[in-house]
Amino acid sequence: MTLRVHSYESFGAVDGPGIRLVVFLQGCPLRCVFCHNPDTWAVDGGTETPVEEIVRKARRMRPYLGEDGGVTFSGGEPLAQARAVLEATQALQREGFHVALDTSGAIDTPEALALLDAVDLVLLDVKSPDPARFRAVTGQDHAPAWHVFDHLRRTRKPVWIRQVVAHGLNDTPAEKAATKAFVDGLNVQRFDRLPYHELGVHKYEALGIPYRGAALSPPSPEELAL
Ligand code: SF4
Repeated sequence: MTLRVHSYESFGAVDGPGIRLVVFLQGCPLRCVFCHNPDTWAVDGGTETPVEEIVRKARRMRPYLGEDGGVTFSGGEPLAQARAVLEATQALQREGFHVALDTSGAIDTPEALALLDAVDLVLLDVKSPDPARFRAVTGQDHAPAWHVFDHLRRTRKPVWIRQVVAHGLNDTPAEKAATKAFVDGLNVQRFDRLPYHELGVHKYEALGIPYRGAALSPPSPEELAL
């Protein structure tokens, strides 16, 4: 089986515990207003890569990953290639690697739920706790993500919550309170609020895609704090 890979980061330090091999996968159904990786959106982009090649890459990196590290599948949206990522996850776990999955949860197929069950840790992006705002931020309906969040509540899967925070989008006390209520019942091991930045804007120009985030700006420290 093969995966469509956008790129790799060999010494990732923020996408899960320890040092990580981060595999950025190609393809995403969302169109987040603050996305800094529009080059990962197209499902037919990237490089078709056999699962075994990713396992070999992880094996070569094992001395650097140490006891605490492992492999993280990110994107794009890894659930969009759930069957192949599940095969890669199981192959890596058979060799003792810790596997994390960075996802918005916006795909709720049986294959996606099976993948969520299999990984050791889910890095879970909260786009918005409000259905109307979720659509405004992502361009998609909230229902699949809500279903996935419920699944993760039921299974008590360890999650690290991540939320991009932008001034003018989700910086208010009311939005913070709604986010806290929304993640209630999840097995939250860590909560990171990530400040919006504009580093990916040039990619939109290069791709000829209109940038929807022009009205946003980075949050103040007070707005960023939960
Ligand atoms: S889910 Fe991630 S990759 Fe997809 S549009 Fe949103 S920020 Fe970009």
